[in-house]
Amino acid sequence: MKTAPSDRPTSMSAYINYFSDRREALVDTIRQMAEMESPSDNKVAVDRLGTWLGARYEKLGGEVRFHPQERFGNHLQVDFPGREVVGRRKPKPCLLLGHFDTVYELGSLSRMPCKIEKGRLYGPGVFDMKSGIAFMLHAIEALQALHGDLPRPVRVWLVTDEEVGSQTSRLITEKLARQCASVLVLQPSAGVAEALKTARKGVGEYTVRVTGQAAHAGLDPSKGQSAIVELAHQITRIAGFGEPRRGLTVNVGVIRGGTRTNVVAAEASASIDVRIEKIGDAARIDRKMRALKAVNRKCKLEITGGMNRPPMERGAGTIALYAKARELAQEIGWKLEETAVGGGSDGNFTAALGIRTLDGLGGVGEGAHALHENVLIEALPRRAALIAGLLASV
Ligand SMILES: [Zn+2]
Repeated sequence: MKTAPSDRPTSMSAYINYFSDRREALVDTIRQMAEMESPSDNKVAVDRLGTWLGARYEKLGGEVRFHPQERFGNHLQVDFPGREVVGRRKPKPCLLLGHFDTVYELGSLSRMPCKIEKGRLYGPGVFDMKSGIAFMLHAIEALQALHGDLPRPVRVWLVTDEEVGSQTSRLITEKLARQCASVLVLQPSAGVAEALKTARKGVGEYTVRVTGQAAHAGLDPSKGQSAIVELAHQITRIAGFGEPRRGLTVNVGVIRGGTRTNVVAAEASASIDVRIEKIGDAARIDRKMRALKAVNRKCKLEITGGMNRPPMERGAGTIALYAKARELAQEIGWKLEETAVGGGSDGNFTAALGIRTLDGLGGVGEGAHALHENVLIEALPRRAALIAGLLASV
């Protein structure tokens, strides 16, 4: 039986049927995007993909707007006003959040060409997160096809500097998200369970620089003040700042220092990655870092850095969105799971503003940032169907 397009939510089984018939189209879209390489630091390449995406969204009737950038690719905003319902106030848009830059340098395609093998599509960025972008495009298209128009306003926001810390996009992300009712982040799902991400750690970075006094290691070692020895003291202190039980971890990931073996080192530095689960721990770890004092008073310490992404805590808004997603999945016999992860995304920013945010809604796969990056083709229809279902009901 054929039903007329309506603004009533279409059932998940309709979406899954729609996408099962369009698996090839999903694969095609992901593949086309992966073959347009888009390393964060190559503006020309990223803009080429941005232009292509803008054209795809324009074809769907979206209002496309680029936010120009000097160093990075232009960020892409697309708004779909959705259907007008007489006598009913329009809801705020649902934000589909993602990034189209990748960590792979230009030319990586020759080492990791797009190919299909054993039910998986391989290629740079297919998992992180070009499959997620394909879901956005195809879910909007599906809703238009099945409902005549989008049942609600939808905003797509795709940034170009996520893989390098989102410094140029963060303020715009926050501004655009504030105008929205909820945020769906189409970053990769987690693990073989293809779980959604309902909590993410906050991420910070600190640098400790030590200045000592250089001297000849053989002729007058006593005149020297070793920055390396001082840094070694500091490293053991900093390593002790971790409190894994409360989800606070500290990793001294890089050290540098000294010039030659026969010179007492005048300079040394360490870079430290900090992760927190609770927003309150940002101040806790910051206080400890800034209170570091030189053991050798003749050495000088300089501490810079701080938190750059707040944690996405598993708040009520996130739980509500996840419950809705699980209910939709259940309709097609799919038991959806959730998990907490240590990595941050732009969803951390929106969640910290109190806007309900659900993450990990993108592709199912493995090898993000690695040579064997791939997505599971069989999972594409249900993941796309879930986005359509959420857009129609949250
Ligand atoms: Zn990534």
